[in-house]
Amino acid sequence: MQRLLDSYRAIPPNSTVRLAKPTSNLFRARDRSDVKGLDVSGLTGVIAVDAEARTADVAGMCTYEDLVAATLPHALAPLVVPQLKTITLGGAVTGLGIESTSFRNGLPHESVLEMDILTGAGEIVTASPEQHADLFRAFPNSYGTLGYSTRLRIELEPVMPFVALRHLRFHSLTELMAAMDRIIETGGLDGEPVDYLDGVVFSADESYLCVGFKTTTPGPVSDYTGQQIYYRSIQHAEGEKHDRLTIYDYLWRWDTDWFWCSRAFGAQNPMIRRFWPRRLRRSSFYWKLVGYDQRFNIADRIEIRNGRPPRERVVQDIEVPLENCEQFLSWFLENVPIEPIWLCPLRLREGDRDGTGWPLYPLRANHTYVNVGFWSSVPVGPVEGHTNKLIEAKVSELDGHKSLYSDSYYPREDFDELYGGETYKTVKKSYDPDSRLFDLYSKAVLRR
Ligand SMILES: Cc1cc2nc3c(=O)[nH]c(=O)nc-3n(C[C@H](O)[C@H](O)[C@H](O)COP(=O)(O)OP(=O)(O)OC[C@H]3O[C@@H](n4cnc5c(N)ncnc54)[C@H](O)[C@@H]3O)c2cc1C
Repeated sequence: MQRLLDSYRAIPPNSTVRLAKPTSNLFRARDRSDVKGLDVSGLTGVIAVDAEARTADVAGMCTYEDLVAATLPHALAPLVVPQLKTITLGGAVTGLGIESTSFRNGLPHESVLEMDILTGAGEIVTASPEQHADLFRAFPNSYGTLGYSTRLRIELEPVMPFVALRHLRFHSLTELMAAMDRIIETGGLDGEPVDYLDGVVFSADESYLCVGFKTTTPGPVSDYTGQQIYYRSIQHAEGEKHDRLTIYDYLWRWDTDWFWCSRAFGAQNPMIRRFWPRRLRRSSFYWKLVGYDQRFNIADRIEIRNGRPPRERVVQDIEVPLENCEQFLSWFLENVPIEPIWLCPLRLREGDRDGTGWPLYPLRANHTYVNVGFWSSVPVGPVEGHTNKLIEAKVSELDGHKSLYSDSYYPREDFDELYGGETYKTVKKSYDPDSRLFDLYSKAVLRR
């Protein structure tokens, strides 16, 4: 903590403060000139797990990989474990995260009991529903523009050693959405309580729900960290397919191939995969490859050399109300040449205030939304960000929201309306009066 405060004080008052952190899952390019980094090297561990109270005290920059390694021996896990191993607890709370428990557990910030935050003013305050509640409520989706969380106390939930999976195949999006709705409304499938739920759309007539059940029953388990690939394993012609994973492998099932994005690097080609070291089959390694590509424009150079236009990056997660999801998917499949698409339903946890609970990312209480994730590129259009702008407009038309970890193009007025502009300004003034940190629009849209 002292190192952090010393590094804050060493930053000249006219310089903007930012994190100096070895990993990131932020996808927008950033201008890093004139920005000084905070030393967060002492804030990467799990401080304590209280198995009886089912809580953990965790440093702000602790990765979920390290956090889960500390909780699983107690047969406990965070209520939502984002899929990529190097996402940190602080990053998921300030930048939002989601996973297959979100239909019953909401989003990661909803299981935070309290957190210590180094504010823009250079003070450490403890924020909770009772203390500095304005900061606590505005922190999710603020992307480090109000302060940095240095310690978080979170709730944990019991897990079992295995997850039994039923992959359900659908030939129409209408049937897919109806089945998802039914599972969420009843909390079960064929009378059995469902613990985990997400899905994948390959095309309008090939989509799946991946329905998971906690179990202690021993038996053979699959391994998708070797030659087999998880997202391919769920595909089948009709009806349903069964599978089983250890809880550890289930939580990280998407990390090995960064969902399906590893195919861009050849890692799914059996010949290459055989020689690809197992320890480098993980999202953080592919991230490094993307970093090189962005630095040296490798993909664009290849396209140009092959006589094709450069490409526009379309790496996004959006949320629409469940009743509008089929419409969004149909529009997307017709207009954006990207597949597969990831689906993950979510509902705010019970008792939250309608719309006002988390002002920077307002969602209706007691309402099901579906997160739709797509991570690839398309040929460039007539203007910069053409396809991303079409997606932003469609999402707003369908009463949805877009996560801000990647490129955004909203005009400032629209942005303020969508992301709690007025509340944000008030909280920003209180906790970062001298604007030592960028503001949210600068970070999310202007790529500062
Ligand atoms: C391809 C892709 C797929 C994704 N898929 C998912 C997904 O399926 N599920 C999911 O949950 N999320 C997903 N994400 C989003 C990811 O959860 C967010 O980008 C998250 O903010 C990343 O956290 P990080 O710890 O890597 O933070 P970083 O990338 O390092 O930082 C993200 C932002 O948070 C700020 N920040 C970081 N730590 C703190 C802190 N302690 N306090 C305050 N601010 C902080 C940083 O300043 C920065 O603005 C995806 C991202 C990508 C690129």
